[in-house]
Amino acid sequence: PTPADPVSVEITVNSPEQMRELGRRLAKLLRAGDLVMLSGELGAGKTTLTRGLGEGMDVRGAVTSPTFVIARVHPALGDGPPLVHVDAYRLSGGLDEMEDLDLDVSLPDSVVVVEWGEGKVEELTDERLQVLIHRGVGDTTDEVRHVTVTGIGGRWDSVDLGVLTA
Ligand code: ADP
Ligand code: MG
Repeated sequence: PTPADPVSVEITVNSPEQMRELGRRLAKLLRAGDLVMLSGELGAGKTTLTRGLGEGMDVRGAVTSPTFVIARVHPALGDGPPLVHVDAYRLSGGLDEMEDLDLDVSLPDSVVVVEWGEGKVEELTDERLQVLIHRGVGDTTDEVRHVTVTGIGGRWDSVDLGVLTA
């Protein structure tokens, strides 16, 4: 694909456990400096996906909804990058506001996952992985989710997102 032609895959997920598994697979594609932006309504499964991501990255602590904090740092247990999990819901400005949060890590050395980042993180970077989670009309159970993963920017040109559908 050319850079003007973003790489995108769609995955159907049938349970919370499959969503975590998708997160674990996604973890294998990520490296320090990557930004993952998660979109989808409340209860879509953004935090569930991030929990699997944390498992796949082998970081300390279970990922939970950061209800009372804007961002939480999960250091790697091995020598991988830390996971910085951001709930931007109450972040009025951009991610630069996070400098005030006194995080103990540098974002370029971390994998940064942002929930509710629309309109807040795009200006920061022209490279990101966009993950959209939605419920389908007419799905037979409450647990079906459709996940669209799109690589934006040259970083993703050479990444095979197809492994996520395996
Ligand atoms: P969000 O962070 O998008 O608000 P959460 O991950 O916190 O969503 O919550 C998702 C809720 O939906 C959980 O209670 C989870 O058990 C439930 N759920 C049902 N099916 C799925 C699925 N396929 N993927 C993820 N979560 C699911
Ligand atoms: Mg959440």
